[in-house]
Amino acid sequence: MLTIGVDVGGTNIKSALIDVGDVNQANTYRILKFASIPTQAKDGADAVVANIIKSIEQFDWRACEKIAVATAGTVDWDSGEIVYATSTIPNYTGTKLSKILSERFGKRVVAVNDAVSALIAEAFLGAGKKSDSVMMFTIGTGLGASYLAQKTLDSESAIDTKLGHYVLHEDGRLCTCGQKGCAEQYVSATALKRYGNENLYQLFHTADISQKKILSDYYKDLSRVITKSAQLYNPSIIVIGGGVIEMAEYWWQNFLKEYKSKCSVPIAPASLGNKAGVLGCVYANIHGVFKNQ
Ligand SMILES: [Zn+2]
Repeated sequence: MLTIGVDVGGTNIKSALIDVGDVNQANTYRILKFASIPTQAKDGADAVVANIIKSIEQFDWRACEKIAVATAGTVDWDSGEIVYATSTIPNYTGTKLSKILSERFGKRVVAVNDAVSALIAEAFLGAGKKSDSVMMFTIGTGLGASYLAQKTLDSESAIDTKLGHYVLHEDGRLCTCGQKGCAEQYVSATALKRYGNENLYQLFHTADISQKKILSDYYKDLSRVITKSAQLYNPSIIVIGGGVIEMAEYWWQNFLKEYKSKCSVPIAPASLGNKAGVLGCVYANIHGVFKNQ
């Protein structure tokens, strides 16, 4: 079965033509073609929707049985409407994305949140596929933390835990949410760059003692927020994704030493990289229960 998955981020819209052999076999989801075009987020919702359509039209969409979109913003699971989006994409809030695309292409198009899509991909097709319940942290500009309680896909199953705003340090750094000391201010990629290391590669290779201290504090903070999530949700596995994981070979082993001294829940780096978004929404379209999309 041919499908198209689209992943709408703040900078780029990634899209893929995906062939699914057996819908229940993780190893039969094969990406045949992968493309990326600029989102042009600043130009607002209409421009972004036009680019989503363009990204689908790059492929032979008429030959596809399913089309699915993962997007930034809060997406209502049952209707596929963007119920909240930040100013990154002006006027995106209120966009009935799945309805617009279904009408445009004459077939059902499902839309889900991008972090939820990545979680679904890793839980069913990636690092968490052998586990019953999966907690996923996405370390990027912010710190995303979402949890899939059971391997059923409906409006109840994927939970945005908001643990990025768990207070890790009382009276700590001011967060964009208004609180002080949120985890996001210490363990996001942005937080690491705050130390003047625009190039994270350099930080991971430093011999400088004070820089090494920054990293050891980072591993401690990350371990603490993950341990908290394990206490709250008791997942069978924790998956760590986001841009920083692309450099996992430079820091993962050092982090693991710290983590294992604090928490016994199995942990793994995400395995699908920047393909998780396009794969997860297609998987959701095939297996998910949606009331109105
Ligand atoms: Zn916060």
